[in-house]
Amino acid sequence: MLSGPSDVHDQAASGGGTRRASPNPGPGIEAIGIAGGCSPAEPCTIGDNVGVPDAELDEWLAGLGAPGSAHIDAAVLAWLRSLFETYGPLDSTTFEVAYRLRAAELAKWATDLVSDDVRRTTNLSPSIDLVEFDRGDVIPSYNGNYSGSSVMSVDPATVLVEVADQLQEGIVEDRRQGWPACHVHDSGAFAELHDGLALWWCRKGKHPLAEIGTLGTRPA
Ligand SMILES: [Zn+2]
Repeated sequence: MLSGPSDVHDQAASGGGTRRASPNPGPGIEAIGIAGGCSPAEPCTIGDNVGVPDAELDEWLAGLGAPGSAHIDAAVLAWLRSLFETYGPLDSTTFEVAYRLRAAELAKWATDLVSDDVRRTTNLSPSIDLVEFDRGDVIPSYNGNYSGSSVMSVDPATVLVEVADQLQEGIVEDRRQGWPACHVHDSGAFAELHDGLALWWCRKGKHPLAEIGTLGTRPA
């Protein structure tokens, strides 16, 4: 299994977007690579893996104790399909490794996007990173500080909201003022999920400020 926390980071940093052909990957983490082969920037799309019958996919999911494919959100289902097509019906132990790798990969992607938001809209240049724990759990850190919980989702938008929310506290403390700000309503915005989109959301005016990761790229 995971020989050390750094393994996860290395895998997550280097493997995005690649798909390793391995008909019999076995339980080792090396064989898994970045699970599923679709990157957050170019998510798996439904239809990529039409060769996998729903019945087989559902049988595998049932064996893992997961809900059926009809009850799983599109982005997660696309990853599961891609994983199944590439590696077949992984056993639950190996699947757990793949799941944590995927969560770590998405967390890295999310921290990069929030870093971009900060750099575009503040004069801060903080160290935004991930702290890694046993079994590959990751928590976003701001200048080495962290207080949140492990990123445990493999849904890109959910991870992005979670990571942005956890990093916001450090950014606000660093600036000594709310961030990001809605100047129309003179109010700070919050990381929220709306209709599947990860948004900086102005609660006062009930509107999106921007998608997380695009802050400052267009006029407000
Ligand atoms: Zn507003």
